[in-house]
Amino acid sequence: MPTSDSKNIFVIGTGPAGYGAAKHLMENGQPTRLLEKNSYFGGHCASFEFEEGFVFDDGPHISFTKHDEIKELFAANTGNDVSQFSAYVDNWWRGYWVKHPAITSMHGLPTEMNTKILMEITTALAARGAFASSDSDSPNAAGPAGKGTGGEQPSADSSADSSDDVKNYEEWLIRSYGDTYARNFPMEYTVKYHTTEAKNLTTDWLGPRLYQPDLEEVIQGMLSAETPDRHYISEFRYPNKKGFANFVSEVQTVAPVSYESEVTEIDVINRTFTINGSEVHNYDHLVSSMPLPTIMKCIKGAPTDLIQAAEGLACTQAAIVNFGVKRPEISKAHWSYFYDEEIPFARTSFPHKFSPHTVPEGCSAVQAETYFSDKYRPMTGTLDQVVEDTIEGLLTVGTLKSRDEIVFSKAWVAPWAQVIFDHDRKEAVEAIHGFLRENNIEYCGRFGEWAYIWSDESYLSGRAAADRIIQT
Ligand SMILES: Cc1cc2nc3c(=O)[nH]c(=O)nc-3n(C[C@H](O)[C@H](O)[C@H](O)COP(=O)(O)OP(=O)(O)OC[C@H]3O[C@@H](n4cnc5c(N)ncnc54)[C@H](O)[C@@H]3O)c2cc1C
Repeated sequence: MPTSDSKNIFVIGTGPAGYGAAKHLMENGQPTRLLEKNSYFGGHCASFEFEEGFVFDDGPHISFTKHDEIKELFAANTGNDVSQFSAYVDNWWRGYWVKHPAITSMHGLPTEMNTKILMEITTALAARGAFASSDSDSPNAAGPAGKGTGGEQPSADSSADSSDDVKNYEEWLIRSYGDTYARNFPMEYTVKYHTTEAKNLTTDWLGPRLYQPDLEEVIQGMLSAETPDRHYISEFRYPNKKGFANFVSEVQTVAPVSYESEVTEIDVINRTFTINGSEVHNYDHLVSSMPLPTIMKCIKGAPTDLIQAAEGLACTQAAIVNFGVKRPEISKAHWSYFYDEEIPFARTSFPHKFSPHTVPEGCSAVQAETYFSDKYRPMTGTLDQVVEDTIEGLLTVGTLKSRDEIVFSKAWVAPWAQVIFDHDRKEAVEAIHGFLRENNIEYCGRFGEWAYIWSDESYLSGRAAADRIIQT
């Protein structure tokens, strides 16, 4: 219930961060209003339902949160109508389909390359003490490569190389896997997905994202075509109906929402903000999930060096190309990664594998992501050209058998996709965050934190921002 001394609070954005913030404020008696520039809710977690019967998310989304509370919240928003599955994931590399993670599934790849990989990874594992004796005082007591018990996977930054002198991601990859695997696999993928070379990236975003095998797993994967599943996440959830957005659908009702209301100016001295260039409102507290470069441009009188620092923050744009296909089961995989330069997209995913309700009867769907960035690989061509290149790529890799199979097509560009952790990021983000804090703006979410955070973490980030207001 609102309290009599409640403040004038606005939350910018209806993605998971805005949702977490608004819900927490409302539940703590702080009347809040949500502002959203789009005509729909969900931010990057939005889903689009098309008349033809296909449902596509804004890039492939599934939930793998480990927070029970968020699992329950997301499920409750769907009326507990959720599918849970383990995913089959594969990689396309030089014409071979390789199960994911590639490092433990190298069976059938060129012998000369595999021999080199095996020798180099043995050296890499030895260098980080993976073969040390397993007495209980050893940091690797749980087994080779520091693998924990119970199938728990080690975090990359803790097990690959604990020394502080790793200068960049390229070095980390080579130290972790050896030169041949690093250069042929993750370094190639980095250029496609992050749009820049691994040497231009730091390692503080890695967490458990890259699988750290032990030698036995690598050898087994080279000798046998059949290997156990080893994704760093083994359990995924997806709403049966209405796409991923259904997980955050409560944001529509948790607080009053003004759609098509873009915050275009913020006056931190007078505590006012402007919507769509004309409507001025007073505020006591502002929670923002706006991207840092956007908010810095909006703040009246913000220091030029900080605006420039924000403009220098790198982020990818995803050209998202969606096809409805008139053939069931076009893919064994839930999603696939692509390394080769000739294939334009970095990843394809298959919404009908997440929920059969995303396609009409007898159909499949494929969503392909091709990445660009203003800083490293600007999108110079047209979206139509990306669509055309995507069709060619899908024909090459065999996902499509012919163009005639396409019964639905829709493409768009997501302007804020993945934060690029280049060497300019940390210092710039710290300075901008300091400025926002000094000016009483609570930033949150993936692009407010400017971090590689998922939907659940974004929700929690919004809630933490709200909590800071509640505590004042
Ligand atoms: C391709 C891709 C795949 C992903 N896959 C997964 C996945 O599988 N699982 C997972 O958990 N996460 C996934 N994520 C991450 C997930 O999408 C984000 O963590 C999450 O959406 C971030 O939430 P947010 O609220 O911080 O930001 P957003 O979702 O970006 O929401 C920000 C909101 O603010 C609004 N806004 C911005 N500027 C203004 C303004 N000036 N005025 C008013 N409104 C404004 C935007 O319109 C938007 O609605 C993926 C992301 C991408 C790009």
